[in-house]
Amino acid sequence: MSDSSNDNRSVMRAAILQAPRRFEVVERPIPEPGPGEIRVRAEVCGMCTGELDQFEGRAKNLEYPRFIGHEVSGVVDAVGSRVDNVMVGDRVTVYSEGKGYAEYTVVPASWAVKLAESTPFELALGEPIACSVNGVRKADPQIGDSVAIVGCGFMGLIMLQVFKARGAGTVIAIDRRDSMLDLARSMGADHTLNSADVDVAAEVKGLTGGKGVDIGVEAAGIQATLDLTTSLVRMEGKLEVFGFHLGERRTVDWAYWNWMAFQIVNGHTRNPDVYVEGIRIGVHLMETNRLDMSKLVTHRFPLDDINRGFEMAVGKEEGFVKGVVVFDDSAAGR
Ligand SMILES: [Zn+2]
Repeated sequence: MSDSSNDNRSVMRAAILQAPRRFEVVERPIPEPGPGEIRVRAEVCGMCTGELDQFEGRAKNLEYPRFIGHEVSGVVDAVGSRVDNVMVGDRVTVYSEGKGYAEYTVVPASWAVKLAESTPFELALGEPIACSVNGVRKADPQIGDSVAIVGCGFMGLIMLQVFKARGAGTVIAIDRRDSMLDLARSMGADHTLNSADVDVAAEVKGLTGGKGVDIGVEAAGIQATLDLTTSLVRMEGKLEVFGFHLGERRTVDWAYWNWMAFQIVNGHTRNPDVYVEGIRIGVHLMETNRLDMSKLVTHRFPLDDINRGFEMAVGKEEGFVKGVVVFDDSAAGR
């Protein structure tokens, strides 16, 4: 039994990835929350770079159809038994492991973080905020530490702000797109370097008295950014691999890593409780004006346009930072 404010429908609309590059919007039964679970009526589900390889069919040995989507925020619509942290009607963002591109989603109640009345659903994207916050927590910056972020996409720009909130000193933002570097500057980067235009390693040496940065964050997930980040970190500094590396094996110059005595940090975490803690911290930073997501969510698509949304995420046209699916169609196309 569940306490439900749902109207009498028994089916919902869901976008299923039927094959590479082909989502189809189909009807699915509205899921029921079991003990300890809640059902969320989705307002927004963010489109994740980590899903692009599935959309494009690049990931090996994947089976289709796939019911994906994991960046959901919305309103609690039903609660199962033994739920005492949230109530029907609460505005929440949740950690989720899939089935997010749908009007309703069920998750453990402990994976929900409440949002203030004034916090826009489309900005409170739990999972990417958690990843970025946890990436900074793993790097464990000390007050005044210099930081270089290589790759200023959506996640890199969240990390930039969280590093600042955490007391980092000079933060150097590095990317190949001037538009992203402009954003980075508006979000507190002390220096920006376009890696297509300048010798980044030489510039960073110049900015750090010849030593290199205390913390280098690789946030793009390709071999070139891994190599570049390696060249920026000082001896015994922290080299954090935060980018989502897929496909071809990466190579590293281990003799150099060894000689430099880097502290290697894996920026990822796999524990749902740690994710939820990261969401809680990130939402708190948002709601106390230390994390500005408003310039980062740039594109909105109704569920029916999810294929177009993913194609744009693949193409990354100028001005595209992050796209979200919105379930109130009146909000789409803004
Ligand atoms: Zn994601």
